[in-house]
Amino acid sequence: MGGKLAVFGGKPVRHSFLPYGSQWISKEDKEAVERVLSSPYLTTGPAVASFERKTAAYTGAAYAVSFSSGTAALHAACFTAGIGKGDEVITSPLTFAASANCVLYCGGTPVFADVDPRTYLITPESIEAAVTERTKAVIPVDFTGQPADYEAIRKVADKYNLLIIEDAAHALGASYRAQKVGALSDMTMFSFHPVKPVTTGEGGIITTNDENWYKTLLQFRTHGITKHAADFIQERAPWEYEMQFLGFNYRMTDLQAALGESQLDRLDTFTSMREAYADYYNNAFRTVKGVTIPYQEQGRRSSWHLYILKLDEEMIDRRKEIFEALTAENIGVNVHYMPVYEQPYYQKNGFDQVSCPTAEKLYQQFLTLPLFPAMGQQDLDDVIEAVRKVLDYYRDGAGS
Ligand SMILES: *Cc1c(COP(=O)(O)O)cnc(C)c1O
Repeated sequence: MGGKLAVFGGKPVRHSFLPYGSQWISKEDKEAVERVLSSPYLTTGPAVASFERKTAAYTGAAYAVSFSSGTAALHAACFTAGIGKGDEVITSPLTFAASANCVLYCGGTPVFADVDPRTYLITPESIEAAVTERTKAVIPVDFTGQPADYEAIRKVADKYNLLIIEDAAHALGASYRAQKVGALSDMTMFSFHPVKPVTTGEGGIITTNDENWYKTLLQFRTHGITKHAADFIQERAPWEYEMQFLGFNYRMTDLQAALGESQLDRLDTFTSMREAYADYYNNAFRTVKGVTIPYQEQGRRSSWHLYILKLDEEMIDRRKEIFEALTAENIGVNVHYMPVYEQPYYQKNGFDQVSCPTAEKLYQQFLTLPLFPAMGQQDLDDVIEAVRKVLDYYRDGAGS
């Protein structure tokens, strides 16, 4: 098996390129969007309200407020949590920049706490070690779709009076101790970017059980404006509204919400498929030398947004070549994520002394393989064949 690597001119395992993630749009999804196109509302109308009700019901949260992106949703959550100048918010370094940027948008300071070497998730211990008298909130990230340890994180949060804003961009459909992600934290953010568990093109949502936060979130996404007379600061004419704080236009459209609601019908199917594919990969890679398969903590069901192989330390020096060789085999590998504080913007703005050794080490070892529901059996087998072929070549110092 194997043969000459495609990167050296051999025949690639696949003819067409397999991306690491992709949406799956059905006939029903298209019909749902078309119905909105023929309706009186294109932007925030009945489809948005319906999508929000359905997402809240799915997760078990009392309220859901949709946004134009997951990033906008995180910004709204930080604003609603009252994050401002001088406040610190603890988050994971192994995440997309948005998990920390949302704190900066509000004038606060993100504080990076290191992750567990097996789950790659922020730990209650590292959170507690990072707490100061300025800490207001913590943003745990359900990296790859596996929920963080919310029971233990809640204990730390209660001890220091911190809010928990969960970055569950990867984790719609996941559960923690048989409870769906979405009502575990004070506010939970989901993203609907096309590679995420379900998509609205661009979009995000916050779920919460708190009615006052719910109202602030709604107002924040529409310039800080309210049209409810009961909430007015002073008496108003019937045509007037009040802008009570500085918000944004962060609204989702009805076109997007209709797509999201239709997608939500297939979320459980998507999750089961991702789970089955991850099992299939695990069985194939468990015995492959040079790599470690993802570790799942007891009592947590991952949504399997990402499937990450961890290269052994001896392989770190070869990762770039392995990455390029797999790409040449037409396998869309990826790496998630460079620790946020290593980004040039953070380095220039006071984060150049930050060090999270576990996250930094893991970043050297990670390799994300394609995993999405619309892939088929042949795709999975191609990935496995290509990974074996490439690792066989680069392991044991071969090819050096
Ligand atoms: C995708 C993502 C976001 C941001 O969501 P967008 O909808 O792309 O703005 C935030 N955090 C994490 C971990 C993500 O993966």
